[in-house]
This record gives sequence, C-alpha cells and structure tokens, in this order.
Amino acid sequence: MSTGEVPARDSTGPTEKCGVVGVSHETEGAALPTYYALYALQHRGQESAGIVTHDGFQQHEHIGMGLVGEAFDQGDIDTLHGQSGIGHVRYPTAGSVDESNAQPFTVSFEAGSLALSHNGNLVNTEALRSKLTEQGHAFSSDGDTEVIAHDLARNLLESDLVRAVKRTMERLHGSYALTVMHDDTVMGIRDPEGNRPLIIGELEDGYVIASESAAIDTLGGEVVRDVRPGELVVLDEDGSGFDAYQLQSPERTANCFFEYVYFARPDSVIDGELVYEVRRELGRKLYEEAGVETDVVMPVPDSGRAFASGYAEAAPDVEFAEGLMKNRYVGRTFIMPTQEARERAVRLKLNPIRSTVEDRSVTLIDDSIVRGTTSRQLVDLLREAGAESVHVRIGAPPITAPCYMGIDMADRDELIAAEGDVGAVEEQIGADSLAYISPSAVADSIGTARSDLCMGCVTGEYPYDIKGEATDRDVAAPVLDE
Ligand code: SF4
Repeated sequence: MSTGEVPARDSTGPTEKCGVVGVSHETEGAALPTYYALYALQHRGQESAGIVTHDGFQQHEHIGMGLVGEAFDQGDIDTLHGQSGIGHVRYPTAGSVDESNAQPFTVSFEAGSLALSHNGNLVNTEALRSKLTEQGHAFSSDGDTEVIAHDLARNLLESDLVRAVKRTMERLHGSYALTVMHDDTVMGIRDPEGNRPLIIGELEDGYVIASESAAIDTLGGEVVRDVRPGELVVLDEDGSGFDAYQLQSPERTANCFFEYVYFARPDSVIDGELVYEVRRELGRKLYEEAGVETDVVMPVPDSGRAFASGYAEAAPDVEFAEGLMKNRYVGRTFIMPTQEARERAVRLKLNPIRSTVEDRSVTLIDDSIVRGTTSRQLVDLLREAGAESVHVRIGAPPITAPCYMGIDMADRDELIAAEGDVGAVEEQIGADSLAYISPSAVADSIGTARSDLCMGCVTGEYPYDIKGEATDRDVAAPVLDE
C-alpha cells in the first residue's frame, strides 16, 4: 500500500467516493466509451480513474491517479482491447491517497477473471473479511471491494453466475452499486436498498450500465431504466441486449437523499426523477416552509443554483440575481498550509458583486451545511460587501450524523449541526436568520415515501445494522455461517 499526503482539500462539504460504468459493445472496443462515460462521472471521484477490458481471452487494465484526463492518454486507451469493459472513478478516503484501493479491482482465479467497480460502502466488511481469511483468502487492500471480489470468486467456483451473485448478495450488508466483469461478461448489481444509483442505457451498438444517466447521454445513448434495488443485470457479451434477475426484494428501499441534493449531476435522472427538477422543487418547498422577505435571492454557486431558482419562483416580487461570482479556474484541490490560507480559500473561489448586495437584504441559498466553515465565510463576505442583512436558507435538513455508506461527510464532532440546535448554527455562521428544509419536504420533492429514503446523516438512524448506531427499520447484518 502506498500512502502519501495530499494537499488539504477545500471541500468543507461531503465528498462522494465513486462512479462506476460497464460497457458491452457489439462492433467496437469498450475502452473509449468507458473513458467518455468516466469523464461524465468525474464529479463522483477525482483521486483515480481506471478501466479494465476483456477481449474474450484475457483482461487488459489501466488505472491511473488523478482526473480521467490525467490518468489516461491515447496510448493507454489503445492497449485496452476488447468489446467488454468496466471503469471507475474514485474519491480519496480522508487525508490519504491510497493506490491499493484504486479500482477497478481485479482478480484471477480458477474459474476465470473478475474485475469490480464499486460505489458505496459495506458495513459488514470486517466480518466478511475475517470469515474469508479463516478460509485461506489473503487480502492486499483494506477496502471492501476486494472482499466482495473474493466472496464472488469463491461462489463462482461452485455455482453458475446468477446463483453465485445471489449467494454473495446474501452475505453483503451495506451500500453497493457495482459494475462487474467476469471474463467478458459485464454486469451491474444494485444493493437491495438501492442506496446508490445505477442505470442501464442502450447505445447504437451496445449497452452501458452507469452510476448516472448523464454518462449514457454523453455516449449518445438512450436510458432504458434503472437497475432495480436487489437486481442483477447481465449484458450479453456481443452487446445485443441484457438479462435481468431480481435476486433480492426488500420491503423498503433506502435511496440516499443526498444524491438528489448534492452528489448527482443536475442533468441526471435517478429512479425516474430529473435531479435538477428535484432541486428546484426543494427550493419551492423551502420558500413555502421558511420563506423570508428580502430584496434579493441569490445562490451559492454552483451548488445552490437550482434550489435558488425554485425558491425565487415561489417567492413573489423578489429579485433573483447572482451575487457571488465563482472563479472557474480554482480546482477542487489547492494547497492551504495555514489557517489564514484556509480562510482565504473562499475568496479564491468566490467574489461578491457589490452592486447586487450593497445596502440590501439578501437571502443566500445553498444545498447543505456540513461543517459550516464556508457558510460563515460567505455570510462575512456578503456583509463586507455592504449587505444590510443575510438570511441563509438550506435545501437539505441539518446534517447531524456521519455517513457509513461511502460518503466522506465528516465525523460527528466536525458537523456544525451535530447537536441539532438551529439557533446555535445560525449564531456560528453569523446569519440574521437560518432555516433548513424539512425531511418530509425532501421526500415529497423526490416523489418517494420518506420511509424509502436513507436519511441516516439527518436522523442518526440508519437503514443498515451498524455497530453503535440506531436503525430506522427492523434490520440485521447477515449471519456468516460459512
Ligand atoms: S447517511 Fe446520508 S449521505 Fe449517507 S447514504 Fe444515507 S442519506 Fe446518503
């Protein structure tokens, strides 16, 4: 394992840990469409990017650190032979760059080759790993994807593909949207709670499975449908179609509400809902629940934009304007060695438009508050630019608890709303008023039952059996008896 320091990230918001893709093509190599699809999923992970293809005889792989454009050049794509392929973009685990966890993860065994791309996080990794270790499996990474790979390989030695996947799914507990390649067969697997998105698309001469529909659009394909929670989708090796198997059917799903609020691209459609429209509806409901009269409504760019446009649409006679301008050339990572530099970070990214703000009351809209550092700096920035008052409205409920399902949210003690006291947060960020949207309005905006959403980071009650944490349903980690 290679571990090195990464420069401090400017991200005070949560970070997604992965995007996955799988392609089976009828006439052409899978590498190039996979590469383009990864570009479309870049927002889901910037630490590493990888593609594994299969040409019917053997696997070919290239995994590089950094953005997709940095990890691959034309020569790398040219070496990735075969019409089947899977790809992955990954976000760093907190504080370290770890090449051993870069994906797709590959393994060769008696029944052929396997490659896996995983989005999500298992919550029973340790139990599975120790069971498999007892049985003689040796692991080269500390990640949960390798554990899934070993379990699946073990089952493939004894059963056909569908039965092997079913047996593995019965042993996994937690969040997983996977693209998997067994020899040249590409498949997609979504956990029974549907915690992370996964969608099927049809290409001109092939099929694709990806974390988000934006990847299908990028390839000029048509969305077929979402992979259903608990479903295995197997693409035909010749790219001509797919078979689907409903391997688990839970009573309730646990879709991550944060995909709609923050992670997914606004132009993606998840489980039938356009993310941009969900965000606009959240904005409208935010006004209904907690509207405040001010001279101007403005978004935090770019995260608050769709929310603010919905909010302004619902608010009568209010000016909707851009009051903060974003420097597009500041990447997600820059070096901030001192506290002073960290405080300057927001000024590197955002600059107020004085004429929009000066001597005016302002409603500032954002998607969420995690640590609160940025919110405080933005309120200060607007006051320094002459704002009379600054009212903050947020399109997600208060984040009070960590995420165990693959989102690098923050530890409890870093969350500004951990105590659940909105007044205290309002004071800390220095706003004249602060309001969040309610969980029920989130469910209504997504168009799903509240009970079918994961809101663990809001309620502290999770849809999985996690040691030391409460659950929101009758759920237990599987007993691993073999
Ligand atoms: S805890 Fe929050 S971020 Fe994590 S899966 Fe649930 S809703 Fe999503």
